[in-house]
Amino acid sequence: MSEQKQAQQHVVIVGAGMAGVQTAVALREQGFAGPVTLIGAEPHQPYDRPPLSKAILLGKAEDSAFEVDFEELRIELRLGLDVTGLRAADHEIDTEAGPVAYDTLVLATGAHPVTLPGAEGVPGVHLLRTLDDAVRLGPVLERRHSVVVVGAGWIGAEFATAAREAGCAVTVVEAADRPLAGALPAEVAAPMAEWYGANGAELLTHARVHTVEPGRVVLADGRELAADAVVVGIGARPATGWLGGSGIALDPSGAVTADDRLRTSLPDVYAVGDCASFPSARYGERLLVHHWDNALQGPRAVAAAITGAGDAPYDPVPYFWSEQFGRFVQYAGHHADADELLWRGDPADETWSVLWLRAGVPVALLAVGRPRDLAQGRKLIEAAVPVDPARAADPSVPLKAAVR
Ligand SMILES: Cc1cc2nc3c(=O)[nH]c(=O)nc-3n(C[C@H](O)[C@H](O)[C@H](O)COP(=O)(O)OP(=O)(O)OC[C@H]3O[C@@H](n4cnc5c(N)ncnc54)[C@H](O)[C@@H]3O)c2cc1C
Repeated sequence: MSEQKQAQQHVVIVGAGMAGVQTAVALREQGFAGPVTLIGAEPHQPYDRPPLSKAILLGKAEDSAFEVDFEELRIELRLGLDVTGLRAADHEIDTEAGPVAYDTLVLATGAHPVTLPGAEGVPGVHLLRTLDDAVRLGPVLERRHSVVVVGAGWIGAEFATAAREAGCAVTVVEAADRPLAGALPAEVAAPMAEWYGANGAELLTHARVHTVEPGRVVLADGRELAADAVVVGIGARPATGWLGGSGIALDPSGAVTADDRLRTSLPDVYAVGDCASFPSARYGERLLVHHWDNALQGPRAVAAAITGAGDAPYDPVPYFWSEQFGRFVQYAGHHADADELLWRGDPADETWSVLWLRAGVPVALLAVGRPRDLAQGRKLIEAAVPVDPARAADPSVPLKAAVR
């Protein structure tokens, strides 16, 4: 796009989280000269979410606002403003403060946490998605309340870690037979289940919540757990309800189905971050990635598509990290169609990793306290080069030296 043409194009971004902010920043980094408006429902200065379940929860950091000078970058910020609808035929969105016209629209509304049926509005029940949620949970940790965490996923494990560090009594209830059941196979999750007890948190698997009442959680098998506070961490769904009636294509999970340039089914409308899925040629399936790195890389692809700076398909090796029970856990890739799993090290030890192969080529890696494995493994996955399985399974051999 020529600079003159760009100067007349108004890009409107809905959602001022990581993906929305990074889209605005990437547009300027890539030389976009036109007006950029960033609209977010939350009243706070745009902030980063990962610290919410870590430093902010423990009171070690006050906030995690992005260090972005919006004024300097000529990004118009409209905060505390809910966008309620999209009328693509008019190139307009509706907000509580009236319609806003766009030339190009970027949807970056992220995800909402799934609530526990019947638990909404019960005193002492919390979610952990926003800065307000984390601030509300601060006193629970400070007063060392006894806490029941529902869900042994990434957020549940991180909250349990912080609550134990603060001195709370913590019980984690998980309906599946293991933590991270949706993310990792049983043999990999098994050693991670041990981390709970070793850190003084009780993990109850096969434990389904029947009801949540003030002060207690009743399980389906009749057991009752006393709880000053209940934290629900059972997943998140794309925040796309407001797009109802817009005609945009969504998948059954509610994610906007973007194409490999992150374009949606509507003209001049892109979608990025937790609210959108995209087809991955690398993995041969559509991916919906709810992790920070996707909300960093995706915006660069969107900005390149808008400015014309690049035309490569968006096909990343997904990456994320989690800090739980004193360990730094990292994952790169996608192991759904792997046909071989190699252990590097003993999972009873503090550090180990797992490499997934397909036809001898690395497709995913989980590293516990082995960041070098992660860095080297991620490159091998990106390059899709075959490895020698015997060398790749030897933790004393650097992964890059296992290439065949
Ligand atoms: C507590 C927590 C800890 C995490 N820790 C990690 C981690 O350690 N590692 C990792 O890889 N990932 C982590 N993540 C995931 C990561 O933070 C997300 O993937 C990332 O924030 C996604 O960015 P996003 O911009 O797509 O969505 P969001 O961050 O959800 O931002 C979307 C924004 O859009 C706004 N919005 C929604 N609907 C509307 C509307 N209709 N109108 C206006 N605004 C709207 C929302 O209010 C929100 O502010 C964590 C997430 C949470 C919640």
